[in-house]
Amino acid sequence: MIFAGNNENMLPKEIIKKYNIASPRYTSYPTILDWNRKSMNVEEFRAVFEAEERGKNKTTSVYIHLPFCESLCTFCGCHKHITKRHSVEKPYVDTVLKEWEMYEQMNGAPIKVNEIHLGGGTPTFFSAQELERLIKPIVKNAEQEGLYSVEGHPNHTSKEQLKTLFNLGFKRVSFGVQDYSPEVQKAINRIQSFDQVKQVTNIARELGYTTISHDLVFGLPKQSLENIIDTVQKTLILKPDSISLYSYAHVPWVKGTGQRGFSEEDLPSDKTKRKLYEKAKELLLNAGYIEIGMDHFALPEEQLAVAMKSGKLNRTFMGYTASNTDRMIGLGASAISEYEFGYAQNEKNIKSYQEKIQNNDLPVVKGHIHSPADRSLKRHILNLMCNFETQYCDKSIVNQQVNKFNEEFITFEKDGIIEKRDGKIAITEDGKPFVRNVCMTLDPYNNNKMESNRFSKSV
Ligand code: SF4
Repeated sequence: MIFAGNNENMLPKEIIKKYNIASPRYTSYPTILDWNRKSMNVEEFRAVFEAEERGKNKTTSVYIHLPFCESLCTFCGCHKHITKRHSVEKPYVDTVLKEWEMYEQMNGAPIKVNEIHLGGGTPTFFSAQELERLIKPIVKNAEQEGLYSVEGHPNHTSKEQLKTLFNLGFKRVSFGVQDYSPEVQKAINRIQSFDQVKQVTNIARELGYTTISHDLVFGLPKQSLENIIDTVQKTLILKPDSISLYSYAHVPWVKGTGQRGFSEEDLPSDKTKRKLYEKAKELLLNAGYIEIGMDHFALPEEQLAVAMKSGKLNRTFMGYTASNTDRMIGLGASAISEYEFGYAQNEKNIKSYQEKIQNNDLPVVKGHIHSPADRSLKRHILNLMCNFETQYCDKSIVNQQVNKFNEEFITFEKDGIIEKRDGKIAITEDGKPFVRNVCMTLDPYNNNKMESNRFSKSV
């Protein structure tokens, strides 16, 4: 095992402490807490959709939220419902299909789906038959093979499910690994062996999935440097095409996150947490992976790496993606849709979501309609999050923000977080973990709102 950290690039601990503050992950801009329709009027949503989306030949991604899980992982921040009753599958699929019909009607023409992502919850909670019944009508108008991906739980993913999805066009699967250490797995109530992950990874590979991704998490309760080294080394044995290395987002104040199974003392300190990330990153880079954005790594030929090299990397509610469709329609309880005009989120409560659809009501309950300034800042924040730099001109809104917070930007420069020259803000190599802090200073909704309980910390 390797324990000596190559910490030459690490910023001094005072700097890490200074910038390790609560900050948004910018999977949307504005962040969901700052959306301007706290309760969305469905008629308004329908009107904007019909004015800007209807009948056009837009490229479309579909995100389907499948919220059920058999047991609760105590680190989880997702919208999920814990049950072992599989009788919930059929009515849920019926509801999502009815919701899809409503979108096709509003669109005024069949929607040609380019991409699908199944997220959760545990999408593989659903049987192969129910998954097939769900996907077939949604992809019926697709003209060519799209980018279809699914999140799989290593303990609950069968060959039959993977094969069914593969035959429907799914070529990407991500498995939630988190950490292999028994003490960490016990603390987060997610017990799964290396052999289990190896088995599902090999099945997916043999079936022909082209991108197999493993999701790891750093900063988990009880996680030590030895644990992360062991986890990364085991991951390297299976050599997934891409790896997400997520920072554990400790937000126990958010209702329903389930983050109650351990105490604050079980969490690594900020400094240790940073070391966990740096060590994992070092091992992954040494093994030939390329760092993508803030928290992803990929082999050089993998789609995310190719997208990053060609400047086409994107960031959505699903994190970094090579997807660049005109819109993303979210289906299912709590699902979020993204359009050029803004965002919309569905009812989170499964029963209420189903009731709305049964009553022929769209289940959209909140959202955001972009102003011209939002559109411009969204582009700049995406540039920073995906390419670590953004160019702006004299009278732009970014320039106004830079002037307003000039002292802060000068401090970012002095602390080695950014380089600012010729109308360009560029994040330095050492500053990459703090890209969220720079984005937050550009974000007028978040200026002067550094309350600690709005977001998780940067590292
Ligand atoms: S981490 Fe995944 S499997 Fe665990 S409770 Fe959350 S959504 Fe369910």
